[in-house]
Amino acid sequence: MFANTPYISPSAFKRPHNLKKMSRLARCCRWAVHFQKLHHSHVQTPSFLSSFSTSASASTPTLHSPPPVRVELTEYAGRGVFASRRIGAGELIHTAKPIVSHPSLFSIHGICYLCLRKLPNRDSSSGASQTVSFCSKQCEEQSKKFYDVEKKADWSRLNEYCRLQGLKYPLLVKRLACQVISRFVPSDVLDILQPEIPTSDRINQMKKEVALLRSTIEDSDIEKERMAFLTEEWYTGVLSRIRINAFRIELTVGSYEDLLSSAAASVIAEAAVGNAVYVLPSLYNHYCDPNVNIWWTESVDAKIKALRDIEEGEELRICYIDASMEYEARQKILYEGFGFRCNCLRCVSKD
Ligand SMILES: [Zn+2]
Ligand SMILES: [Zn+2]
Repeated sequence: MFANTPYISPSAFKRPHNLKKMSRLARCCRWAVHFQKLHHSHVQTPSFLSSFSTSASASTPTLHSPPPVRVELTEYAGRGVFASRRIGAGELIHTAKPIVSHPSLFSIHGICYLCLRKLPNRDSSSGASQTVSFCSKQCEEQSKKFYDVEKKADWSRLNEYCRLQGLKYPLLVKRLACQVISRFVPSDVLDILQPEIPTSDRINQMKKEVALLRSTIEDSDIEKERMAFLTEEWYTGVLSRIRINAFRIELTVGSYEDLLSSAAASVIAEAAVGNAVYVLPSLYNHYCDPNVNIWWTESVDAKIKALRDIEEGEELRICYIDASMEYEARQKILYEGFGFRCNCLRCVSKD
């Protein structure tokens, strides 16, 4: 699956002394969910790229120009993301807003219900407030795409089920279902992403979950014809894609310059505040010595930045796991969690 890499980037190992720094950085981009290569038989036309933005800087002259990347087939792992021009170390390559996101049940009362931003003077564990809140009028306004529908139903059974089972992804499906009912997104919005092949146990579990989701909506005053899409097939397809493509959001305290500097030990990644699914960030392949990093600071909006100078045509890759781990541990986690054996230069040399 992750066969010998046919294309070895010229700068991939130009600066091996950077490995330690990269390892430390990679801890901040760790997420505990499956995130696999995407296998499609044709090159995707990256029309969705226009929905991403890059920052203004010396090398990225326009504020909302398309990001300097293109999506192409790789010879080893389906689709991948490549630099369409030279990218400098530290450059913000693009930002990405999620298709769907949801706070963790633990932090739900201490952060914005939409953007996961920390709310001032709110202690998520105190239980002082049992209602969800938004950080701004803007988030409140944008939340209408799901919240007007969501608040018509009593979600306590689904929340309790997720709490007892330690599950987070059914909450993402619930929010997506509410966005579809609100006609904010089409029901096939996640179809571009690669699904996991579910086990029979997983299929049985998903059947229970879709029944719970349907009955919750049926018990509300939401018009029944608006939930026609909510079938077992839809739920299974959506959850199987979320399981592979969702990112665990850990907000990082500190600036990117801190991250790049040797004082990176002062940068702390807080516990996960929630989970989210994006399009473009899901197309990046894995590398144990990555040249780009995905991270979050104040909210669920993701930032993808270059960790070193990248040449035009070079593949951009992130590290799916904690890159500071030893070779054996990395191989085990990548195989068990992501379904492939890594043959990157670092793994080949058993570093
Ligand atoms: Zn917000
Ligand atoms: Zn590797």
